[in-house]
Amino acid sequence: MATPANQCTDRVVGAILASWRYDISGISPEMRRDYESHFAECARCRARQKFHRSLDVSLAVLTSTAALFFLFALAVLKHIKPLEHVAFKILGLDIFDMYHMLISAGVAGLCFSLIAMALVLMTTPAPSYLGGIAAEHARLIEERVAAIKALRPR
Ligand SMILES: [Zn+2]
Repeated sequence: MATPANQCTDRVVGAILASWRYDISGISPEMRRDYESHFAECARCRARQKFHRSLDVSLAVLTSTAALFFLFALAVLKHIKPLEHVAFKILGLDIFDMYHMLISAGVAGLCFSLIAMALVLMTTPAPSYLGGIAAEHARLIEERVAAIKALRPR
């Protein structure tokens, strides 16, 4: 290919794709064909698309991990409650207030990360991208099963 990898082969198409964050899952199949052929010939846009999709997936993973973390923190706090009087005697702290502060922080964190996760899943093609990967895997497995069945003598 004559064009270097860091240059777009079609600036106009490249700019359109950039404005969509290289996500063509939302457009009609006949329109998609042109962009798919651009991805096929343009290494730069292909790399960008890959980068943006992995960004979406990492955001989805990050927000769901945060939600799990806060859920875990709340579970831990629930188990700490019986030790309240011990800590009160040793540390002389107002554990009751602290406990409730931590619980509200945990609940707030959980709500915040769930909202962030919902936003990521709504505004990025991460779900359809992951769904696409799953569908592709299912298709490959089906093909393999069909191949094995064909080999088996009747
Ligand atoms: Zn391009």
